[in-house]
Amino acid sequence: MQIIGLFGGTFNPIHNGHIALAQSVIDTLHCSQIRFIPAAIPPHKAIPTVTAQHRANMVQLAIADHPHFILDTCELDRQGPSYTIETLHLLRHRLPDMALCLIMGQDSYLQLPTWHRWQELLDYCHLLIVHRADIAHTLQLHAAHQNKLVDIDQAAAQFAAQTHGLISYLPITPPDLSSTRIRAQLAQGDTRIAGIPEKVLYYIKENHLYQS
Ligand code: ATP
Repeated sequence: MQIIGLFGGTFNPIHNGHIALAQSVIDTLHCSQIRFIPAAIPPHKAIPTVTAQHRANMVQLAIADHPHFILDTCELDRQGPSYTIETLHLLRHRLPDMALCLIMGQDSYLQLPTWHRWQELLDYCHLLIVHRADIAHTLQLHAAHQNKLVDIDQAAAQFAAQTHGLISYLPITPPDLSSTRIRAQLAQGDTRIAGIPEKVLYYIKENHLYQS
């Protein structure tokens, strides 16, 4: 079975940490594609001052040269908070015979019990958790996930053998970048930002985004 990676985020803005993470997932799981899914209204963050359309446009620019990366705007078409469980419900309906793999950084996994209907996620997809800088290198699984873990060396084969239900942990560390820090740099008028694709930086300047 093909594995489709689902990478949700605020992408406010997208940065090279996101891109490196997605590339590592392709290299590890051999996904046929990774869908970048910008949240319209992230449930756990302040509503972004930059519109969902701008954030999606920046994702499109950043991934344009990557043949396996796709922008999926399904959350932009919905009203209300962008709950991942609703996105999974929709994608499972559209892709009934694919293994779906939700990708998230370790910081997001730690927050998972605050997510809407989080205990149902594995009914729709597998979960791949990627290490994030400054977080302990051992993954503490939530109790409900204790018997779902597969070794990363086995993940490509085991994820492809069933449509959902397993967890694995990718212990690589993407570049230590965060959108919060990049927004702060931009607000201070810093124009030489390392860590975001050049086309995205150009878009930010053209559209006067993130200025204080
Ligand atoms: P912010 O600083 O605004 O909270 P962010 O940099 O964490 O944003 P998001 O768009 O919220 O970016 O992240 C989407 C997903 O990518 C999350 O699951 C997050 O954990 C993961 N992620 C983002 N940057 C990294 C990174 N440098 N290393 C590992 N995971 C990352």
